[in-house]
Amino acid sequence: MSNNRYSVTLIEGDGIGPEVAESAVRVLEAAGARIDWDRQEIGLAARERHGVLLPGTTLASVQKNGVALKGPVTTPSVEGYPSLNVTVRKSLDLYACLRPVKSLPGVRSLHQDVDLVVVRENTEDLYAGVEHEVVPGIVQSVKVITRAASTRIARFAFEYAEAHGRKLVTAVHKANIMKLSDGLFLDCCRDVAREFPDIEYTEMIVDAACQHLVLHPSRFDVLVMENLYGDIISDLAAGLVGGLGMVPGANLGENCAVFEATHGSWPEAAGKGLANPTALILTSSMMMRHLGENGIADRIEGALRDAYVDGGSLTPDRGGSASTTEFTDQVVRCLSNGGA
Ligand code: NAD
Repeated sequence: MSNNRYSVTLIEGDGIGPEVAESAVRVLEAAGARIDWDRQEIGLAARERHGVLLPGTTLASVQKNGVALKGPVTTPSVEGYPSLNVTVRKSLDLYACLRPVKSLPGVRSLHQDVDLVVVRENTEDLYAGVEHEVVPGIVQSVKVITRAASTRIARFAFEYAEAHGRKLVTAVHKANIMKLSDGLFLDCCRDVAREFPDIEYTEMIVDAACQHLVLHPSRFDVLVMENLYGDIISDLAAGLVGGLGMVPGANLGENCAVFEATHGSWPEAAGKGLANPTALILTSSMMMRHLGENGIADRIEGALRDAYVDGGSLTPDRGGSASTTEFTDQVVRCLSNGGA
């Protein structure tokens, strides 16, 4: 058992965020993680208390601690206010979004043999939010792709592949139509690929990639792509292994990391105990690996596997009738029975 203590920013978010965050905190504690939580707010809860949707103290806390665990947050439809998630990622330069998508034993899903990683560029593309009305009835959204950001994310994908013993990187694109923007993205991927001769490199047009992912997901390994394709492909990939309740994620930069699941705040389910906390529990496990605590991460993943193989206490998305808390109780029991 590690004796290290960590100071980590906890942003519960809203909607189902507080419920799944509470589950993750309980599981981390039961797995032996020693964490001092620095609780911060974002979104509507923050506006009630601090008058702003994204208080400076929240960003400062993440910068100070270097690591945050974040629940999802609803993007308010306040005109002129950009997505809070996009703002956090850009403010902290969390340029790489990493989403491992893996089949879990005991989880009934479309495929049982998925083990791929989506690497999504997190700072530009149509997410730059550069839009304007040309004349009434005609608006433009500007897609921004730069050599610097594309090279950086391509290098991240190849370095990740090398460090994790992965053999294939696939760049997903639409350069047949967006010849300049996606063409530049591909050029950067090709340049970086030449630096990694031991890793196979392929390219796939995004629409064809969707079909191949649904039919043959086991043929994929690491996928690298621009921001918007990454958003869509992540959810598609989650659907292959049981849905959004199952897939973790991380937003990584040079100086800090915000760990958050792929799913959103599912506002309709808030407070009802319907959410599957697996995604944020797996996200916590990624966070512990990031902190060098592989033993704790192994224990958490082992307990989750045991909970699914047992199958007696599953949330509604997995065909059961257990609440978020009851499923969490089961994972905590599995941890005290030995976990991994
Ligand atoms: P969503 O992910 O909140 O929900 C879509 C569907 O996925 C739900 O209806 C539900 O069936 C399923 N689902 C999601 N999480 C689940 C869980 N933990 N367990 C079981 N099933 C789950 O997506 P949405 O409805 O498109 O977005 C709702 C809000 O969340 C929007 O305001 C959006 O901007 C925001 N959002 C936030 C983040 C984030 O904070 N990182 C990410 C995506 C969307």
